[in-house]
Amino acid sequence: MFKKVLIANRGEIAVRVIRACTELGIKTVAVYSDADEHSLYRSLADECYPIGEAPALKSYLNIERILKVAEKAGVDAIHPGYGFLSENVKFAEACAKKGIEFIGPPTNAIDVMGSKINAKKAMKDAGVPVLPGREEPIENEEDAILVAEEIGYPVIIKASAGGGGIGMNVVYNKEELVDTINSTKSIAQSAFGDSTVFIEKYLEKPRHIEIQVVADKFGNIIHLGDRECSIQRRHQKLIEEAPSPIMTEELRAKMGEAAIKAAKAIDYHSVGTVEFLYSNGEFYFLEMNTRVQVEHPITEVVTGVDIVKEQIKIAAGHKLTYTQDEITFRGHAIECRINAEDAINDFVPSPGKIKYYRSPGGPGVRLDSGVFGGAEIPPYYDSMVAKIITYGLTRKEAIERMRRALSEYIVLGIITNIPFHRAVLEEENFSKGNFSTHYVEDNLCTLK
Ligand code: ADP
Repeated sequence: MFKKVLIANRGEIAVRVIRACTELGIKTVAVYSDADEHSLYRSLADECYPIGEAPALKSYLNIERILKVAEKAGVDAIHPGYGFLSENVKFAEACAKKGIEFIGPPTNAIDVMGSKINAKKAMKDAGVPVLPGREEPIENEEDAILVAEEIGYPVIIKASAGGGGIGMNVVYNKEELVDTINSTKSIAQSAFGDSTVFIEKYLEKPRHIEIQVVADKFGNIIHLGDRECSIQRRHQKLIEEAPSPIMTEELRAKMGEAAIKAAKAIDYHSVGTVEFLYSNGEFYFLEMNTRVQVEHPITEVVTGVDIVKEQIKIAAGHKLTYTQDEITFRGHAIECRINAEDAINDFVPSPGKIKYYRSPGGPGVRLDSGVFGGAEIPPYYDSMVAKIITYGLTRKEAIERMRRALSEYIVLGIITNIPFHRAVLEEENFSKGNFSTHYVEDNLCTLK
């Protein structure tokens, strides 16, 4: 097992990784920017080092500085968390060059999945269902018009290098197609430095359902079931649950098998998530996230598997702790992402100092957060304050516990989306599990 791990991240995920390391008897090294000098994760780590100014480019994305600290502190491995450098091939390679284990998948897998076109091509070849379209860049407008006619409108134009919901535009008719291709290309160029775009069928009211996979370095690979992530705002997830309200054993087995096929096709190891869009009984590969995800705790709660510990053990060369047959699903889990944002005012971020803080607790409530009373939510990074995860033997009980947890949770000094979550948890269609990825925009008037 590793003796010392550096966490190249901040906030709640840094806390989560430190907790996993501590339970495994591994010493932890935190790195922090000027904006995170008084953060919780810093105080939980065994050692901590400053890595630069607040803007991420000068700190959490600064490969050279992070590796300098890693060498100075003498770590065996680096955990990248999510976001920042977690899916950065250059960083993974730079770690390898220094003889430091990157706690994540092989660089080839990150590389293939980092390009939406290459990922789709690889998945189609592997026999994983993909959405109708073309797995190649749009080179000329005439071709795109023909493809759109063939697959039928609406279609979606996507940046191959896109992420975070940026660089995707829906087209409803031929008249809009060429303009949308050009505007998506220019957004892709300015946001990702790569103007490559492609076209696929746009599903109007799909559900976003994903499968957690875990693979070791010996070719063993299992899945930990599904997560429903349709409650999104601007393609960013807000509420996740496990299992999906529409899940059946048969569908889970099919999606699980497809996810394992996907991971095998790229010689995957580590933990990862294969995302699908589901509509009318069919599911299609959307993308694979080659890292631990924000919503991993709901799967931990219903399976009892500690995903982060498993990820660290795999990186250290251990075999999987479980076989597929040993994975069972019990009860229901829901996660609400509590963000410092103003749901009434178009979800604008509301960073600042937390003046008063009271956390929820009690039966079936888990709180993963990186804050405390007096902590600062800096304006430079994502606006997450905490993740509340509740568990119940049934979906109904998990919802009731979430309602209670949200009513106990007090965060003063900043605006949070707690009222928004409370409104969703009271809303009838949510309670019935009757929703698609358009749930938030369709119900915004009621939820505000
Ligand atoms: P990103 O990498 O930017 O997060 P994803 O490929 O994961 O983008 O897609 C994010 C969300 O966009 C999905 O959860 C879904 O709501 C929507 N989406 C993407 N592709 C399609 C599609 N072809 N049809 C309908 N919705 C889509």
